[in-house]
Amino acid sequence: MIVTRFAPSPTGRLHLGHAFSAIRAHDFARERGGRFLLRIEDIDGTRSRPEHVDAILADLAWLELAWDGEVVFQSQRLPRYQAALDRLKAMGLLYPCFCTRADIAASASAPHGPEGPVYPGTCRALSAPDLSQPHCWRLDMAQALAVADEPLVFADSGRGTIVADPARHGDVVLARKDAPASYHLAVTVDDAAQGVTDIVRGEDLFAATHVHRLLQALLERPVPHYHHHALLKGADGERLAKRHGAPTLAALREAGEDGRALADALRNGELPVGFAAAKA
Ligand code: GLU
Repeated sequence: MIVTRFAPSPTGRLHLGHAFSAIRAHDFARERGGRFLLRIEDIDGTRSRPEHVDAILADLAWLELAWDGEVVFQSQRLPRYQAALDRLKAMGLLYPCFCTRADIAASASAPHGPEGPVYPGTCRALSAPDLSQPHCWRLDMAQALAVADEPLVFADSGRGTIVADPARHGDVVLARKDAPASYHLAVTVDDAAQGVTDIVRGEDLFAATHVHRLLQALLERPVPHYHHHALLKGADGERLAKRHGAPTLAALREAGEDGRALADALRNGELPVGFAAAKA
């Protein structure tokens, strides 16, 4: 049975790019008699808001994208992330890191990775870390690659068989100072726990998949198939993200637009009337 999911973070209102991604994941499952799940990635307690969750549910109903089963909230699954962290700690693959963003940015040696500066490893060899101080937990990438005992390959429907190269991310954060897990850890644990067979999401997350593939190997989780779709762009070629001032789905819904018609337009590769002219 094919299982896909849509996994928005309720840190703001959804925009057309989210709708496009949700439609792709929904239709992929429906066309194959599979299940489409909804997971709310609300692990970031400081930025997630209940009103954004309500808007997400209303947006999906308006687009006529019905999900199967109960909505899963990451904020209710913290013990699972802790168990995964404990397992990686027991394998000797995590270390506490006390650096601030400014510390890392100030490190002249920090090269850039897919998600920003690569951590220079300052805290990797601390002999007596003081865990009473604020810290995150990082994956020791070199150690992790040394113990991962399977070829780190994954199938991507657009690109073919990919050999994951997580090393260019450096020592990624798996538990944040301000949140009990990171996106990379929570998404890997949850996709496996929910039996997701096919990950349909935007190509902006392709780089992250390399990290997820390593975590699947370390945590002995199954490897789903990946479908990274192109991002929806406006007439000006700009990506339709809320930071470019594109109207949110909630705004279109509240303005009386027809959600089903909008979804069908997106399915046909069209943008809603007037949208292409939206302010950048
Ligand atoms: N929660 C992530 C986001 O909103 C997406 C997670 C995923 O599809 O893997 O960008």
